[in-house]
Amino acid sequence: MFDRLPAYADDPILGLFETYKADPRPDKVNLGIGIYCDEAGQVPVLESVRAAREAGAGAHGPSVYLPTEGDEAYRHAVRELVFGGNTGNIVVVQTVAGTGALKVGADFLKGVLPDAAIWMPDPTWANHEAIFAGAGFSVESYPYYAKATGRFDLDGAVAALRKLQAGSVVLLHPCCHNPTGVDPSQAEWRALLDVIEQRGLLPFFDMAYQGFAHGVDEDAWAVRECVRRGIACLVASSFSKIFSLYGERVGALAVHASSADQGRLLGQLKLAIRRSYSCPPAQGAALVEAVLSNAAWNAQWRAELDAMRARMRAMRTGLHRMLGEALPEQDFGFLVEQSGMFSYSGLSARQIAALQSRHGVYVVGSGRICVAGLNESNIARVCEALADVCG
Ligand code: PLP
Repeated sequence: MFDRLPAYADDPILGLFETYKADPRPDKVNLGIGIYCDEAGQVPVLESVRAAREAGAGAHGPSVYLPTEGDEAYRHAVRELVFGGNTGNIVVVQTVAGTGALKVGADFLKGVLPDAAIWMPDPTWANHEAIFAGAGFSVESYPYYAKATGRFDLDGAVAALRKLQAGSVVLLHPCCHNPTGVDPSQAEWRALLDVIEQRGLLPFFDMAYQGFAHGVDEDAWAVRECVRRGIACLVASSFSKIFSLYGERVGALAVHASSADQGRLLGQLKLAIRRSYSCPPAQGAALVEAVLSNAAWNAQWRAELDAMRARMRAMRTGLHRMLGEALPEQDFGFLVEQSGMFSYSGLSARQIAALQSRHGVYVVGSGRICVAGLNESNIARVCEALADVCG
């Protein structure tokens, strides 16, 4: 029965991590995986999260099931974080991290809009296509990254979205686009939302890095503008990176639909969750809820988020300066123009292979660099390696 199973082409990023771990060179550098590391190269434990944990948050007595839609206080706190003071008709459910939010959103949409296609930026996070195709969607793409300029292709995106049928779903990264690091400006977001509004399209925001580009509120601008305009939309939130809680699987899906009956909307979301994993895990969400709801921990978390963002920015400016000195004839301006953990470097397959074999610097095949893997101890080495393969 299982003799002819197709081989699973493992996630290339996780595969690269295995090769990196097996590399004996002590000064190897991993710029492949999408994890925020601190100055010491470690995944941090945020002090705000530690304080909440030490105060007992997430420490349950008996381990009971959460409701299908998740913990009520957590859902309320997430609504505040994502939408600020916006008072639209919004339903939030707790999910198994950002991936779970995308999956629940995909299943929910397939149930209510069975014929809709989804349009994704080109390029996008590789799992987007897998999740939506797996939920039965026809997956298409719209232009996003202009290779020639290394910038957002507003004209291409607008022209493509203008041709879509009403009710088509459009996947958007509100900030820190993965994998390019290229985000639309506010003026460009307005132009995109104008088309979305005129054509009656349905935005599905994937917000895995709220606070990593410019700040918690700034990064949610496009989402909040959508709600302000009364455009129905979905928002998948991940708290893996911004709370440094990767293994806890904390996330949420929000649906804004001004005319929908809230009870029925919640009912359809619960249906999607119930038949997938029944109800979400408790402990990570309890920590996030505690941090968000306690004024002191919330302020501390925001300061920690600011520090992570500042560190990534400093690594970008540092690498930009060093590469500019090493290769003055080349333009590395993309490093400082892009936001978040990732930078699309434009490195060729040959250069990426040379980085890995000659220098032990690991970068994924698309040329995406995780700047959060840089620190004061490895940045000069990475710069030398890049200058060697780019020179
Ligand atoms: N969406 C994007 C754009 C991501 O980059 C990631 C993680 O890398 C996710 C969603 C999923 O995050 P999580 O680990 O919370 O499932």
